[in-house]
Amino acid sequence: VRAIVLGSGAGGGVPQWNCACRGCDAARRGVIPARTQDSIAVSADGERWLLVNASPDVRVQLAATPELCPKRDRASPVRHVVLTNADVDHTLGLFVMRESTPLVLWCTKRVWDALEKNALLRSLRRFEGQLEYRPIAPGMTIEIEGMATEVIAAPGKPPIWVDSPPHEEDNVALVFGGAIAYVTTAAREGAYLDRLARAKVVLFDGTFYTEDELIALGLGTARAAQMAHWPIVESLPELAKLPARTILTHINNTNPILVPGSEARKYVEGKGIEVAHDGMRVIV
Ligand SMILES: [Zn+2]
Repeated sequence: VRAIVLGSGAGGGVPQWNCACRGCDAARRGVIPARTQDSIAVSADGERWLLVNASPDVRVQLAATPELCPKRDRASPVRHVVLTNADVDHTLGLFVMRESTPLVLWCTKRVWDALEKNALLRSLRRFEGQLEYRPIAPGMTIEIEGMATEVIAAPGKPPIWVDSPPHEEDNVALVFGGAIAYVTTAAREGAYLDRLARAKVVLFDGTFYTEDELIALGLGTARAAQMAHWPIVESLPELAKLPARTILTHINNTNPILVPGSEARKYVEGKGIEVAHDGMRVIV
């Protein structure tokens, strides 16, 4: 199984259009790498690729990745998309991929119901069968492009644009080929950690370093927990226990681990945990 990190940033990316925090400023000056928004591609055979989350940056991400470029006519190696939740940074890319290639979309019923209420979905219904929905739910193992994909419950929340009470199927984690786990949003510890203990590679929610990161920087009022992210200072002791190669991704532009050599980055790397970057390739 192989995975390509297409985007290693959280919503907004690095730099974020309206932000001049230390991380965004450093990325604009080229001092630290820029990051597009969270997405990976996964393949069992290196030919057929599954897109996991469709980021607003999908057009640039696909163009920058030779494995995902069409080899002839309009035959893209990407025909299937799986969504872990309905966040804008995970779904807006769907509407960017509207150019009349039939797509198979795998997501929970909660996520599908939210998308169906969005007028933009019409852009993926130019013809019968352009978008085929396949439901997933925690506990299921599905076969996509010759690869077993396990769906695991992971604590999350509904996105702001979806007006509904929290539900177990708002957010899921995925394990590909029994080996590569992708937990892009995890609000706290949970039973999913038991499954991660048997994975070979874990890509994990590295959104915030501390619980009050946005508040301390004067950039917002929400705590990490309110945004369904388990901050690194709390998750790291648990992650360090996993036998897997563990890589933090979905990193917010305010997170001090973005800066190589920072105390935060040294702390993470000192625990044997890696920090993802756009274009990172993992083979198991
Ligand atoms: Zn920023």
